[in-house]
Amino acid sequence: MKEIILIKNGELALKGLNRSSFEDMMIKNMRHRLHDLGAFKFEKSQSTITVIPENDEIDFDEAVRRLCKVFGIAALSRAAVCEKQLEAIRDTALAYLGDALSEVRTFKVEAKRSDKKFPLTSPQICEQVGGWLLEHIPGLRVDVHDPDITVTVEVRDKAAFVRGNQLHGAGGMPVGSGGNACLLISGGIDSPVAGWMMAKRGVRLTAVHFASPPYTSELAERKVHELLEKVSEYAGRIRLFTVEFTEIQEAIRDHCPEEMFTITMRRFMMRIASEIAQRENCGALITGESLGQVASQTLHALGCTDECASMPVFRPCIGMDKNEIVEISRKIDTFEISIRPYEDCCTVFTPKHPRTRATKELARQAEEMIPNREELIERAIASAAFKNIN
Ligand code: ATP
Ligand code: MG
Repeated sequence: MKEIILIKNGELALKGLNRSSFEDMMIKNMRHRLHDLGAFKFEKSQSTITVIPENDEIDFDEAVRRLCKVFGIAALSRAAVCEKQLEAIRDTALAYLGDALSEVRTFKVEAKRSDKKFPLTSPQICEQVGGWLLEHIPGLRVDVHDPDITVTVEVRDKAAFVRGNQLHGAGGMPVGSGGNACLLISGGIDSPVAGWMMAKRGVRLTAVHFASPPYTSELAERKVHELLEKVSEYAGRIRLFTVEFTEIQEAIRDHCPEEMFTITMRRFMMRIASEIAQRENCGALITGESLGQVASQTLHALGCTDECASMPVFRPCIGMDKNEIVEISRKIDTFEISIRPYEDCCTVFTPKHPRTRATKELARQAEEMIPNREELIERAIASAAFKNIN
């Protein structure tokens, strides 16, 4: 039996004349996600995109799983294709959905006819197909108000489609439609979630990770790669830059007051990330900060770090509780990776009593105690190692 996937756009439907270019972007993203599974054809019509596998060996379940993570898709359904003929439609409905229907109690049939020449009306199709299923599946009942499964029959130009319940899509906007932004990614729980949230709004991600070898290990970097691989199942390809941060951290340790370590480090991170972001045509930075979570995430501290960014800083987790962030990280499958216990550069040289009410003035003074600041920054930027994730 030939199966296809029907894709329903979400907010795209609202975009009027831009719709077509948004759809093209979504198709490009779907193609990228599916390319190693085999060849697929994509057809646009009205508000549906049809994804058609071009050979029988394709792992169809995997294709569906992957498309469930493509942003811009509100809902999707797998459908069986058959001839436009009542007998074929009835047989296909029974063969394709019989197992699922025998595991539930109620169903209904809906019919859509875009081919108005088809000899049966929509109510007649429902009656015929519904009757056939009732006759062949013992114990099944019709419930038109709240059925367990809705069987939908669509009679189109070239063929008929039979499908069961829709699957939830990932929602949001197609990645690429919202420009580029640069995610500061640690190995923690919050930053991968922050990146995922912005990608959901159509932002394509570049990522910057600060590593401080030998204080941080290769396993910590591996962890960041794995986190980004998970995020890229939704966000598509992510360009990662890994920056050597050791020299700067040692300079901060050697020259700054201990209570200002974390904020000073953040300010350096913002400068370096801003520079890489600019080169990568990004319009914003993204962090996983959440207000009040730690000393470096108070209003005062965030004001001090913002000052060093040359573009807007998006903090999508800012108003979220930790458990809400964890809930998303579990959903996107990053949680188990995030909690692996490797040192991050933020946990080396952590001050015992970080300042929560830092002022910009204090932050500037602390920084000025570091000799050759500009050179350190330039060297760190030059150290950035590039890798494509996915
Ligand atoms: P996360 O769970 O994302 O690590 P966190 O609550 O542990 O966040 P911090 O460690 O204070 O908070 O980091 C705040 C934000 O700064 C992170 O969400 C991330 O965006 C950025 N950041 C922290 N460490 C790094 C790093 N090593 N490389 C890149 N960005 C970092
Ligand atoms: Mg962290």
